[in-house]
Amino acid sequence: MTTLTADEIRSRVETDWNRIVKVLAEKVALQSISAKGITAEQMKRSAEFVADELRLVGVDTKVVQASNADGTPGAWEVIGSHIVSPDALTVLLYAHHDVQPVPDPAEWNTDPFVATEIDGRLYGRGSADDGGGIAIHSGALKALGDDLNVNIKVFIEGEEEMGSPSFIPFIEAHRDEFAADVIIVADSGNWSADIPSLTTSLRGNTCVDVTVQGLEHPVHSGQYGGPILDSNTLAAMLIASMYDENGDLAVPGVAAEEPIGGLQHDLDETTVRKDSGVVAGYEFAGTGSLASRLWTKPSVTVIGFDAHPVEGSFNVIAPETRFRLSLRTAPTQRPEEAQEALAAFLESHAPFGAKVTVERGENGMGWAMDPTAVATKDALEAMTEAFGVEPINKGEGGSIPFIPELQRIFPNAQVLVTGPEDPKANAHSPNESISLPGLKNNVITEALLLDKLGK
Ligand SMILES: [Zn+2]
Repeated sequence: MTTLTADEIRSRVETDWNRIVKVLAEKVALQSISAKGITAEQMKRSAEFVADELRLVGVDTKVVQASNADGTPGAWEVIGSHIVSPDALTVLLYAHHDVQPVPDPAEWNTDPFVATEIDGRLYGRGSADDGGGIAIHSGALKALGDDLNVNIKVFIEGEEEMGSPSFIPFIEAHRDEFAADVIIVADSGNWSADIPSLTTSLRGNTCVDVTVQGLEHPVHSGQYGGPILDSNTLAAMLIASMYDENGDLAVPGVAAEEPIGGLQHDLDETTVRKDSGVVAGYEFAGTGSLASRLWTKPSVTVIGFDAHPVEGSFNVIAPETRFRLSLRTAPTQRPEEAQEALAAFLESHAPFGAKVTVERGENGMGWAMDPTAVATKDALEAMTEAFGVEPINKGEGGSIPFIPELQRIFPNAQVLVTGPEDPKANAHSPNESISLPGLKNNVITEALLLDKLGK
């Protein structure tokens, strides 16, 4: 078997290019908004469209309706395969065919459901997230055609934007149909439209509700204020005790990690300041690279705090305060372990002997790529050849819950997270778009990657 060159693949993708863009444009027009009902007719139509398109590039597809954990009907999913040889490596291609809602079309410069090309970008809801993923798989399989030398399985999900409620029962019911050596999740994105990336990690998350109590009942602040602190102040002290003087979270047992596979390029502080909207003069908390602080170190956020509203407040020492902490955990730490460590810290750091109780909430596992896997090296090589520049890998501070679930169900599979987005894509926001030159290079990358994996 001779390896296909990037030039050969590029010329095949050029020949197929109009079809790829047309698939994407037709996909945008389908308005497959899962928030309007995952079982709805437009979701079934969208699944059938994707199944038809993948059939045209050689995948034996079918549309299947998943069941939720409680047995009620779930999302319309597309599954399929193209088996070239029982001895060949098997690759599962993932994307999702549902899209985010459009709460206010007036915020868009173009019709969100009419794919519109402006300056090398195709605008439309789902053009990037994750119509782009479907276009990448379709274009790569078409480019390889009869030269395909890996077995392909596909799973195009119909409810990713709804948090994938029927994902686990569906995968478990179709375990054999999805079992693969390599899983390519084309639902993330690149450093920029010109610089490719693998997504190397996702943080996990956990949550605790904390109650701090100093008094059996409220008392007058004039009469008792001084030796008796109000529960809001006690809660604030407890919260502050989680940080060291640099603003790093310093809770023993809550792990911090460095970017998976090493940091190629730190995030630009000016861009992060601008994108996040911090006020002038605000200094970023914590130490180490900005990337590690955003991707692989833990972070805790007070996402709820029950206190008396300012309006109508009076001179009373509050007896009890409840707040909710959301903890983003390092990619490879089990969130249960981080939760226990956080709970133990809070219970043992009660200011002035106040009563602290912690209720444990839900846990979501993070994920880390294996930077040394052959599939990882093949992917980075394919990116370099297709884009003509070295990739800059990146992590994600948030979670994509189905990725750790896939990894849990298929522990031996190498999961590669790629995707069509770039920082200008505005996924989930008005004026979503995909870079067309970026998409073309993504298609070439995936074709090259599949070819390399088959060798
Ligand atoms: Zn997505």
